[in-house]
Amino acid sequence: MNSIIEQSIKQKRTVLTELESKKLIAQYGIETTSINLARTEAEAVKLSDNIGYPVVLKISSADITHKSDAGGVKVGLKNAAEVAEAYKNIMTSCLKYCPTAVIEGVTVQDMAKPALEVIIGVTTDPQFGPVIMFGLGGVWVEVLKDVVFRLIPIEKVDAQKMIREIKGFNLLKGYRGQEPANVELLENLLLKVSDMIVKNPEISEMDLNPVFVSKDKAIAVDARVILFK
Ligand code: ADP
Ligand code: MG
Repeated sequence: MNSIIEQSIKQKRTVLTELESKKLIAQYGIETTSINLARTEAEAVKLSDNIGYPVVLKISSADITHKSDAGGVKVGLKNAAEVAEAYKNIMTSCLKYCPTAVIEGVTVQDMAKPALEVIIGVTTDPQFGPVIMFGLGGVWVEVLKDVVFRLIPIEKVDAQKMIREIKGFNLLKGYRGQEPANVELLENLLLKVSDMIVKNPEISEMDLNPVFVSKDKAIAVDARVILFK
């Protein structure tokens, strides 16, 4: 069994933190941001200096899965002073949001360049087993429900079809001067997710939300993995 999953099961936790989830997906060749845990404000500043600005700070707690809702995400921090302030703000608002949360600290991440946002998800159907979902981010999924599903495992031709089936596919090909997204990288990413789920039957759900896709990159900026109870 994968050691990150094994450790979580030993601790009787079914929700992996973003840090654990990103370490796990990286083992299956899925590109993510750099990510490190800081337990104090001073550590957060030191890590940020090492990574180079701008950086992103996010709350790290198994009890807070929707980090933005808790005021736990600060992006585009440009210097040590901004990091120090963000650290304090994150702690204050997250403790207000969930006073009983056990907080590990914050993660310090490099800031991914803005790009087209897509979502890849995995859920488990009680009858058919694991299902992979793909869609564009933002209003496309929230308002228009423009998403497609396939049973896992998928093959290359399935990944190709999934991406072309969404109504917003034209957006991936570039619009209003925006550069096109790399569709082949996206196909490979869907295959890597499928492969990871096949190899780790303990996983019941997973979210890469969002993935930033550009001409030369498909990078998961957030990840959440949930295990079966
Ligand atoms: P949540 O737990 O609320 O889903 P996310 O980790 O998805 O938190 O962060 C919220 C938003 O902040 C993302 O949708 C993305 O737009 C932005 N973001 C998060 N991490 C990064 C990063 N490392 N680089 C650039 N943008 C980021
Ligand atoms: Mg997210």
